[in-house]
Amino acid sequence: MNILQDSSLLNFNSFGVNHKSKYLIIIENRDDISNIINNKDIRNEKKLIIGGGSNILFTKDFDGIVLVNKIMGIDKFYEDENIVKIKVGSGENWDEFVSYCVENSYYGVENLSLIPGSVGAAPIQNIGAYGVEIKDFIDNVIVYDLEENKEKIYNRKSCCFEYRNSIFKKNKKNKYFITHVDFILNKKPNYILSYKELKNLDKDRISLKSLRDEIIKIRNSKLPNPKILGNAGSFFKNPIITQSLYNDIKSEYRDISGYMMGENNIKISAAWLIEKCGWKGKVLEKIGVYKKHALVLVNYGEESGNKIKNLSEEISKSVKEKFNIKLEAEVKIV
Ligand SMILES: Cc1cc2nc3c(=O)[nH]c(=O)nc-3n(C[C@H](O)[C@H](O)[C@H](O)COP(=O)(O)OP(=O)(O)OC[C@H]3O[C@@H](n4cnc5c(N)ncnc54)[C@H](O)[C@@H]3O)c2cc1C
Repeated sequence: MNILQDSSLLNFNSFGVNHKSKYLIIIENRDDISNIINNKDIRNEKKLIIGGGSNILFTKDFDGIVLVNKIMGIDKFYEDENIVKIKVGSGENWDEFVSYCVENSYYGVENLSLIPGSVGAAPIQNIGAYGVEIKDFIDNVIVYDLEENKEKIYNRKSCCFEYRNSIFKKNKKNKYFITHVDFILNKKPNYILSYKELKNLDKDRISLKSLRDEIIKIRNSKLPNPKILGNAGSFFKNPIITQSLYNDIKSEYRDISGYMMGENNIKISAAWLIEKCGWKGKVLEKIGVYKKHALVLVNYGEESGNKIKNLSEEISKSVKEKFNIKLEAEVKIV
């Protein structure tokens, strides 16, 4: 096992901040994880797992071990006339897996095209886009318990998926290394075109490939490419508020819109709130709020993530003061 010391995290986070980790280890299989737990010199160190680093903001050096996930492999293990089941190594790149599904005519995850990051991180916050959440295509999540030094299997129900949340972000946070995800995909089309930017597509002429291309085109037109401009996508979750607060805001701002969540709650756009507070496009020295999307904080060359964290707190404060709504970070702040 190769243990790197005092290693830069620059190439392991999409914000492009340059903090260091006390130790850094590349994980290629379950044995690598178990070797760390059995190694008395390092087993008690704090541990942080990184896939693509596209949902993390480092604000200081990490005083522990960063485990960089490189567990690979795509294995179709079941097929009938309607579905396929595929076991995927958690270190596989998410979008490359979507591309594999599209090429093989496996339906389900095409709306999640071009989301950065690894397969293993996808269940953690139940990634979603364009009317689809990954929870609907997950059969099992296979984890390695870092305390008990053994493998466990979580089926879809026991993952307790919610909007941008799961058991792996709640009471099992930091306890497990997700090593594999088993997906169930359809062999027959069931396109989800409910999202407003997809509504004009011609249902009869669409194909998996053309839908994926369309989604990539839309995403490229409004989100910055982290390889060019440091960012972690949406910094905050969309808040879910009560109908009565929604009505109060609507009486002043006619242009607010939302999606009903249950009987009495409404999910509204965090980007809309941030824009109304005047943050969209703001540049503060080497950081800022993206000009095309107020939910995306961007790094123009700042070495430390601390200033980005401070900016996120300023934004939350102004949203709280203006609308009495508390924004919750989607990005993991370390
Ligand atoms: C431009 C851009 C657009 C984005 N758009 C979307 C979007 O549309 N929808 C969406 O849902 N998200 C979006 N995201 C966020 C991000 O891509 C997803 O959250 C993605 O799943 C993160 O994957 P990752 O491998 O980079 O995770 P990382 O950033 O490496 O890790 C995220 C968290 O998961 C933990 N973790 C990672 N891998 C494992 C593992 N194997 N086992 C246990 N814990 C693990 C980490 O410790 C950390 O807490 C976007 C990000 C960017 C930069």
